[in-house]
Amino acid sequence: MINKVKGTYDVLPNELGKWYFLEQKIKEITKKYHYYELRTPIMEYSNVFHRETELSDMVTKETYNFVDKGNRDVTLRPEGTAGIIRSYVENKLYVASDLLKVYYVGPMFRYERPQKGRYRQFNQFGLEAIGSKSSLLDAELIKLSNDFIESLGLENVTIQINSIGDSESRTNYLNALVSYLTPFYEELSNDSKERFKNNPLRILDSKDLNDQKIIENAPKPIDYLSSYSKKYLDDVLKYLEIFNVKYNLNNKLVRGLDYYSEVVFEVLADIKGLGNGNVLGGGGRYENLVSELGGPQTSAIGIAFGIERLLLAIEHQEIVKEEVSEIDSFIITFSENEKLYGAKIFNLLRDKGFNVDIEFNNKNFKQQLKKALAKNSKTLIIIGENELKNETVTLKNTKTEIQTEIKLKDLITNLEKEIK
Ligand code: AMP
Repeated sequence: MINKVKGTYDVLPNELGKWYFLEQKIKEITKKYHYYELRTPIMEYSNVFHRETELSDMVTKETYNFVDKGNRDVTLRPEGTAGIIRSYVENKLYVASDLLKVYYVGPMFRYERPQKGRYRQFNQFGLEAIGSKSSLLDAELIKLSNDFIESLGLENVTIQINSIGDSESRTNYLNALVSYLTPFYEELSNDSKERFKNNPLRILDSKDLNDQKIIENAPKPIDYLSSYSKKYLDDVLKYLEIFNVKYNLNNKLVRGLDYYSEVVFEVLADIKGLGNGNVLGGGGRYENLVSELGGPQTSAIGIAFGIERLLLAIEHQEIVKEEVSEIDSFIITFSENEKLYGAKIFNLLRDKGFNVDIEFNNKNFKQQLKKALAKNSKTLIIIGENELKNETVTLKNTKTEIQTEIKLKDLITNLEKEIK
């Protein structure tokens, strides 16, 4: 037997109900907030993601890279933002309007250790508002996230907010953090030792218990914000009050990617046993990605939700009941000639808009009946020798179990009555 690739999964037909539910809610929320869909390829030239300034583990260690037959370096997208920005720049989408609000839904690829809520191919729903540095826009996106979670019926979800400030704030903060961490260097976990060299900010995000103890007393980014960044954060929070959005200020919140600045946020569920899997989505403002990918200096903000995490939360709270599918009628036939007659009826009823099915294999009556009941068929249309000879059918209501032989020309009116 050939197995699926490690870290991937199949979505079987009976599991799709909650996906459709989620997709519907995505359509509704994006329409309400005027975000339009932008579909980009799942593969991009590697330098879309592998940029000099992007040293996060996710991009340096976890991407699926390959060289194609034309000797080009290609990467399966690990996240949606860089591809969207590549498209924004390549299609000069900044010409038509000063602010572009777009969303995407689709698969991302990261070579991570698979566990519950963490896969190597997973899906994200993300939104990007490109072309404005407005605290009102930050607040609107956070409000959208809040509305989206509410529309799914999810409870016990909080919005965590932090500011890592502009580059001046971050330089000051990083100096303070490095001075604080230096005496603890030997005690840090191996991962954090590495981050100490490349991106000390991410040590705040460490899940290692000993690291967390050390971080407990570390300086906080919020205390190192420039006056501009402090005001920016305050303004976002003021708008959130106006929008009635509840949030927690979280000093330790930093995001996995290096391009963020100013306000960052996460949408956090509280499901026991999920640990890090509780992070349903996260995002923030980014200032330099558009220019790094060859466009004009443009400020933007985005968020990405993990679809599988949202589905886990929906499942956990039993929000979507599996739909019970029903059909109007199942046509039971026996001989070759009866099958031809049955096929004619099958075609007629389908054309008239009934939801009908027929036996395709050669099965006996009992087996066909079992199949019809498994499909929750409201009626049976039984065709035997007599029915074929008399141009009739036997119509049976599976609930009342009453059956009558009727003329073929009367079938539609009778069937309509039975399935009401
Ligand atoms: P990020 O792009 O890392 O900011 O992730 C945004 C969201 O995508 C996270 O909050 C998760 O909900 C989801 N996510 C990230 N990585 C994975 C993964 N390997 N498997 C499933 N979901 C993921």
